[in-house]
Amino acid sequence: MQKTNFQIAIDGPVAAGKGTIAKTLAGKLHFLYVDTGAMYRAAGLLAVQNQWQINLDNQDKIAAALAAAQLHLENILDENRQLMTLVTLNGEDVSEKIRTQEISEAASKVATLPKVRQVLVEKQQHLATKFNVVMEGRDIGLRVLPDAQLKLYLTADLAERAKRRFEQNRLLEPNLTLEEVKKRVQERDQLDMSREIDPLTIVPDAIVLDTTHLDIETVVNNIVGLVQTHEAST
Ligand code: C5P
Repeated sequence: MQKTNFQIAIDGPVAAGKGTIAKTLAGKLHFLYVDTGAMYRAAGLLAVQNQWQINLDNQDKIAAALAAAQLHLENILDENRQLMTLVTLNGEDVSEKIRTQEISEAASKVATLPKVRQVLVEKQQHLATKFNVVMEGRDIGLRVLPDAQLKLYLTADLAERAKRRFEQNRLLEPNLTLEEVKKRVQERDQLDMSREIDPLTIVPDAIVLDTTHLDIETVVNNIVGLVQTHEAST
């Protein structure tokens, strides 16, 4: 019988440390890292580039364009030998463009459209049939990988998360203040948690980790321990 792939689902609000932890973990375990937020960001960018309003009236158009688009995620090592996801949309490298505030907001809006979610969830589930994955996002434990062997919900205090996002985006958008970033982080969380379809929630079988005062290495080592315990018990 074919062995099922190992799936690690990581969910949580904006800048809770999901990306860094998921990447480091995937590197240690030699699993595929999948940044599903980058896919919603690419969908948001597609709508913005076409000057389409992001609403239910346009969801068929956006979902069809997304389904027809060439959207590729490739994990590469950057100049500091850190894993990063190179995102190409219809042949264009959009890895930086999708990280602006404008596209963050477009991503959260496009993520409220059921048909867009359907297109992306299928892509994500397909990847998990081919590889062992560490997949991070908002609905991974709930919708994308409901049978994942390990489900984690990462969180951190709002002030800490705003600080992290502010530092990450400093070079990209130097005019944004910490207060402004904090406000936008809060607004985006609110939208992600209150949308009708697959809102960000803590699924009952998730392990909740608050990363406010934890260093990455400790969190990752704890998770590796959980994976080993699971492997030993099966
Ligand atoms: O994780 P990141 O901040 O890059 O995600 C961008 C947006 O994409 C989120 O605010 C959320 O609205 C949406 N998203 C989602 N489901 C996922 C991943 C991201 O709705 N699995």
